[in-house]
Amino acid sequence: MKKIALFPGSFDPLTMGHLDTIERGAKLFDELIIGVFVNTNKKSYFTSDEKMAIVKKSVAHIPNVRVITQENELTVTVAEKLGAKFLLRGIRSIKDYEYEKEIALMNRHLDRDLETVFLLAEPKYSHISSSILKEVWTFNGDVKEYLPEAVYRALEEKRENSEK
Ligand code: ADP
Repeated sequence: MKKIALFPGSFDPLTMGHLDTIERGAKLFDELIIGVFVNTNKKSYFTSDEKMAIVKKSVAHIPNVRVITQENELTVTVAEKLGAKFLLRGIRSIKDYEYEKEIALMNRHLDRDLETVFLLAEPKYSHISSSILKEVWTFNGDVKEYLPEAVYRALEEKRENSEK
């Protein structure tokens, strides 16, 4: 049977840390589906359509990866509809571990057949998050090496439009 995994996240925006997890995760499964979802605890900087377009461009080089979005359903429900038996998530630190543990155990309560697989963040990306990159970028700090090309371009475009 085809091993399908869903990587859910807010990806606001996608970072090199996410992309590294996607590239490594894609080697573990027959198909990896990136779920660009809404995190109700976080205010979104990019719209879902913008995030989808950015992620699609950034993963175009990985053949067994595709991208979906939805706003109103539980991750476990989306996974079941997709036939995904695995969730993929990344862990940067103890703080992530505590947060990820809560989510993974709740998802396990909701669907015992769905297994969450964690990849440890690559050390060179383990200090970056979408929020810190957005903050530094807002004040003109150099974070280019942590942003996939499509993200960098989208941020530059947003800056140019806001200056008009
Ligand atoms: P969410 O709002 O659902 O936490 P994020 O987009 O912030 O969505 O993160 C999605 C997943 O990617 C989470 O499991 C998070 O721990 C992981 N992640 C975030 N940043 C990195 C990084 N720099 N390296 C590896 N994994 C990361």
